[in-house]
Amino acid sequence: MTAKRIDGKIIAEALRARVAKEVAELAAAHGVVPGLTVVLVGDDPASQVYVRNKGKHTADAGMRSDTIRLPAETDQQTLLATIGRLNADPGVHGILVQLPLPAQLDSLAVIQAIDPDKDVDGLHPVNAGRLAQGLPGFVPCTPLGCMIMLEGEIADFSGLEAVVVGRSNLVGKPIAQLLLAKNCTVTMAHSRTRDLPAVCRRADILVAAVGKAELVRGDWIKPGAVVIDVGINRFPLPDGKSRLIGDVAYAEGVEVARAITPVPGGVGLMTVACLLANTLTAARRRLGLSG
Ligand code: NDP
Repeated sequence: MTAKRIDGKIIAEALRARVAKEVAELAAAHGVVPGLTVVLVGDDPASQVYVRNKGKHTADAGMRSDTIRLPAETDQQTLLATIGRLNADPGVHGILVQLPLPAQLDSLAVIQAIDPDKDVDGLHPVNAGRLAQGLPGFVPCTPLGCMIMLEGEIADFSGLEAVVVGRSNLVGKPIAQLLLAKNCTVTMAHSRTRDLPAVCRRADILVAAVGKAELVRGDWIKPGAVVIDVGINRFPLPDGKSRLIGDVAYAEGVEVARAITPVPGGVGLMTVACLLANTLTAARRRLGLSG
């Protein structure tokens, strides 16, 4: 069997188009244009690229896009004051602080300073709590993207065995919560899990969010499983460039799974599209409309 390749480009494009249409409808009906403000501290080259990309897609979807650039030596008080201003600004529906922050800044305190109803990255503990309790909130963008991909492949999640490898607040834990909410039987695996291959082999849905290139081998995958590879690992090439590799050995997995996401071209492309969707949701909720 050769697995279906779950194409992140196509799914992300469709989501961005849907968001753009709904943004136009919201503006026409209510005169409100959703606005996302990204705060970037310092000049980390990778962060600069991510922020530019977010800004472009936000504007392409017809939303207001602002970026606040602060110098690398910014202190905590200045950053908190910036967030306070954005919390109070009615034109700002979503706030995203680009991580990682320079070492002198306390990331957790910064995230906690964001109004949870503008926390479109879904990282505020209030939003993690809402997710755990099944209340409306914001789900982090990458896990949301994973679920959209899974929903395209699986009609009925009820009772399926789901294994999530990785337990970060950013990826593993929220994905596990989303799968639980879909009535899967969820196992969370991590670096202390005993016999990880055997645990993975139980999975009808296997999500790898580890950050270890090709950790998950083909013979760890249950035949017919749906596999979501969140991992992004840089493999250096002799010419000084690098190639991206996932946490799953794709060439092996594709022979066993029913459907599998590639790296690149999979989950990574969904993250920004889900950020746009969350920003639209924030604007709708402010108007008292359903998210
Ligand atoms: P973290 O480093 O925060 O978490 C990694 C998790 O993997 C931890 O829970 C860790 O366990 C677990 N782990 C580490 N080694 C092993 C192992 N040998 N066996 C089993 N579990 C292990 O990473 P993130 O969750 O932030 O990211 C995971 C991957 O996803 C990375 O490659 C990252 O680049 C990628 N990513 C991709 C995104 C996208 O847009 N596609 C967005 C965000 C992340 P323990 O808790 O015990 O230490």
